[in-house]
Amino acid sequence: MALIVQKYGGTSVGDPDRIRNVARRAIAARKQGYDVVVVVSAMSGETNRLLKLTRELSKRPSEREQDVVVSSGEQVTVGLVVLAIQEQKAKARSFLGHQVRILTDSAFANARIKSIDSERLFASLKRKEIAVVAGFQGIDEEGNITTLGRGGSDTTAVALAAVLHASACEIYTDVDGVYTTDPRICDRARKLDRVAYEEMLELASLGSKVLQIRSVEFAMKYKVPLWVKSSFSDDSGTLITEEDEAMENVLVSGIAVTRDEARFVVRNVPDKPGLAAKIFGTLAGLDIVVDVIVQTPAHDDKRTDLAFTVGRLDLEKTRDCLRKLARQIGTGKVEHEVDIAKVSIVGVGMRNHAGVAAKMFQVLADEGVNIRVISTSEIKVSCLIDEKYAELAVRALHTAFGLDAKPAS
Ligand code: ASP
Ligand code: MG
Repeated sequence: MALIVQKYGGTSVGDPDRIRNVARRAIAARKQGYDVVVVVSAMSGETNRLLKLTRELSKRPSEREQDVVVSSGEQVTVGLVVLAIQEQKAKARSFLGHQVRILTDSAFANARIKSIDSERLFASLKRKEIAVVAGFQGIDEEGNITTLGRGGSDTTAVALAAVLHASACEIYTDVDGVYTTDPRICDRARKLDRVAYEEMLELASLGSKVLQIRSVEFAMKYKVPLWVKSSFSDDSGTLITEEDEAMENVLVSGIAVTRDEARFVVRNVPDKPGLAAKIFGTLAGLDIVVDVIVQTPAHDDKRTDLAFTVGRLDLEKTRDCLRKLARQIGTGKVEHEVDIAKVSIVGVGMRNHAGVAAKMFQVLADEGVNIRVISTSEIKVSCLIDEKYAELAVRALHTAFGLDAKPAS
């Protein structure tokens, strides 16, 4: 029997009525003949509430204990979803991360899945149950509870779809698919019917908040067809899948914007081999993900300024680490700023078209937006700009690259 994994996000399980709706959808899939595994997030707002609680008791909570607290949101929802399914006269059973042995490394708050034991899930499906699995949580080799990072339930769902050889993984959320850009910023944003894994990786990492990036990496690696759908409508949603010719004919598929980064500059770094390795190696050791990096000569040619961005959540960790390193290595000042935004155009079509970046810069110039830093990859061009121009930049680029929805006629 074909197997399907359905993941429901926080808003989809936000209250008892919505939980009943999730139960109805899961049962409907079961009645269509699928084996069904459901993955759920915590109720909307719950993870934030729990995080805040930990902060009230400790300025810098131990990450192990923080994971014990924040993983509890998903424990509540699996139980509630199963109760709702049972009320609708179908069979279901809940599973916490450790009960299906979602084994992760020990990077608390940002753990990576290493393996999943599929046996208990297959046994449950064999009993004709809908298996309801807590997203976001796992267990490390020592038996500690871990969590997979914000939005991690998406990754739980795709990882399960991969190990269970599901025919598809459906991510149910409060929007009906992936859009060309954030519709709250640009009212001409359009829903995409299909998008390539690689494009989605860029759109997710760059701020299209629909999916956790790691889930798309997993889906790409294991070729899991990934659907983004609304749990509140019957719209067909967006399919994230392998690249095809039709996708390559489109120059730009989407515009991403992110404002959750902070920019650091380490001034006057001695210009000798090994120092960049030392700085970024130390940050990596602390699980700090570094994004755009720019190295420029400082006042004389024996020193350089090293600028780069990190997630704002890592701001304090990064600052403390850099200050320590600055003393050790003998660099100049460590500076940081947060009022920046990164705007990116993304599309597999860029691979075989010239002039796409130049067009982007011209559009920004026409709007009087100053570009602070540029970075590119094969299918993306990103510009770091002042945060106050982010929305203007997105709207102008959206129009210039022909992405605007046709006005309703
Ligand atoms: N509840 C977790 C969060 O809010 C995981 C998830 O929703 O995917 O980040
Ligand atoms: Mg989410």
